[in-house]
Amino acid sequence: MKVLVTVKRVIDPYVKVRVKSDGSGVETANVKMTMNPFCEIAVEQAVRMKEAGVVSEIVAVSIGAPQCQETLRTAMAMGVDRGILVETEVDVQPLAVAKVMKAIVAKESPKLVIMGKQAIDDDSNQSGQMLAALLGWPQAAFISKIEINGDNADVTREIDGGLEKIAIRLPAVVTADLRLNEPRYVTLPNIMKAKKKPLEVVKPDALGVDVAPRLTTLKVEEPAKRGAGVKVADVKELVAKLKNEAKII
Ligand code: AMP
Repeated sequence: MKVLVTVKRVIDPYVKVRVKSDGSGVETANVKMTMNPFCEIAVEQAVRMKEAGVVSEIVAVSIGAPQCQETLRTAMAMGVDRGILVETEVDVQPLAVAKVMKAIVAKESPKLVIMGKQAIDDDSNQSGQMLAALLGWPQAAFISKIEINGDNADVTREIDGGLEKIAIRLPAVVTADLRLNEPRYVTLPNIMKAKKKPLEVVKPDALGVDVAPRLTTLKVEEPAKRGAGVKVADVKELVAKLKNEAKII
């Protein structure tokens, strides 16, 4: 069984994000970039399924600038067999991601697509759901467990108020949530091995996909700075402040 995983290159979550001075977006020049954490979980899951003998081949796909090749190499160092970079300088939005992935699915015929539940830069949480809709495939978003049973996948989903267990027919699209697994660290020998793995570069045009943005960002702003806190002497003073100053009671 072949599995496709998607890996997005994003600003490292431990870096303090700065807004560009013209308010057109966030600064990415000279900023440390890394694989989106939820994509790491998706990759780890595919690799564990291959190690368990359930999966025969894992192909990772990244859409973006040439530097996304580094992200694909990291995925390969974790155990992915080969990579596809869909190269574009356009900041792709979820619908474009879903269209590109639909074209890749047509070429690769995987039985399962594992994506991250959301990219930590745009926080859209849409690409997986849109891909499933475009393909007309079953989907399970926010999974914390998956087991393949013949032509079905038994999955546990993280939902408001608990866990939902469902069986979905393959081929399907699933999106990885935080508790699915803990991704492994890449080792130096595996980084070296990954350099020799195949990496194909294609342009969206060659896939027949228009990735032009459909949404326009009007302005990006820093959140308002929080004022300093004050200590109150007793509950009476607290209630008075909430009533008269904050006016919330
Ligand atoms: P989003 O809908 O933007 O929150 O992204 C959800 C998931 O879609 C991410 O965790 C990735 O697995 C995948 N994805 C989104 N954008 C890209 C991209 N440019 N390249 C590869 N995968 C992506």
